[in-house]
Amino acid sequence: MKDEKEPVGPVDATKVPRYAGLATFARLPRVEDVARCDVAIVGVPFDSGVTYRPGARFGPGAIREASRLLRPYDPELDVTPFAAQQVADAGDVACSPFDIQRALAAIEARAGQLLDEGARLVTLGGDHTIALPLLRAVAKRHGPVALLHFDAHLDTWDTYFDAPYTHGTPFRRAVEEGLLDLGALCHVGIRGPLYAKTDLAEDAELGFGIVTSISVGERGVATVAADLRTRIGARPLYVSVDIDVLDPAHAPGTGTPEAGGLSSRELLALIRGLAGLNVVSADVVEVAPAYDHAEITALAAAHVAYELIGVLAG
Ligand code: MN
Ligand code: MN
Repeated sequence: MKDEKEPVGPVDATKVPRYAGLATFARLPRVEDVARCDVAIVGVPFDSGVTYRPGARFGPGAIREASRLLRPYDPELDVTPFAAQQVADAGDVACSPFDIQRALAAIEARAGQLLDEGARLVTLGGDHTIALPLLRAVAKRHGPVALLHFDAHLDTWDTYFDAPYTHGTPFRRAVEEGLLDLGALCHVGIRGPLYAKTDLAEDAELGFGIVTSISVGERGVATVAADLRTRIGARPLYVSVDIDVLDPAHAPGTGTPEAGGLSSRELLALIRGLAGLNVVSADVVEVAPAYDHAEITALAAAHVAYELIGVLAG
């Protein structure tokens, strides 16, 4: 049987240089080229929901380019993520830059198709608006899911300029639509000025807990990860990583940077701390390469995606 073969891994970097050839994520095969797909990497080049600097539509391409250097074995997790499961690049969702509702429908449809084919998703954004259709697709198949949301920002505001579907509002919409398990919702890395103190009260009313950026530094990554694991337990979990959770020193290429963020070392360790949890899908969003320097942000995002794939292999 074709589908009982060993997973097809990345192009062998000892035979073809890493900088040669088409840039699929980590030089993995395309989804069309494999008999089955356990983890699909899917790009969503959409940034029509941003409130400040645009440019995350170019995120998937930048992350794929920066992922060329990823190697097969993850020593921290002691896993070879591309051998333990079939990982493949599913290309980009072709979504409208002009009509947000149509774009959300296209994202949900493509995500649903891949989930129905048996894949879990690691989605490369795009702005954070895309988390809503991804959660719709996931919840349709798993029921309400726990959410671990790494971000400088709450993203639970109601509207901007009366618009309900933006990158600052996906998780309020997700709660309203019943997509989330209210017993296990947590933001990690929150910091920076808010519109008002009531932002925090409203967020708490929706059911979210907050681990601030300062708290990660004070309590330490291992303690925070252990607390998150206890809180989430065996629930199906969606992990959403806004790259602006990192300090601008570690991720300058993003639309709404906030000083005082996590280091990439802290973020990668927190993600590895999720190994063994029932992660059903994940995303990495808000990489805007026009503001990046020396691929700092795209490299961080590629590594975040790699660790997420490693966690999915566990
Ligand atoms: Mn953010
Ligand atoms: Mn966000």
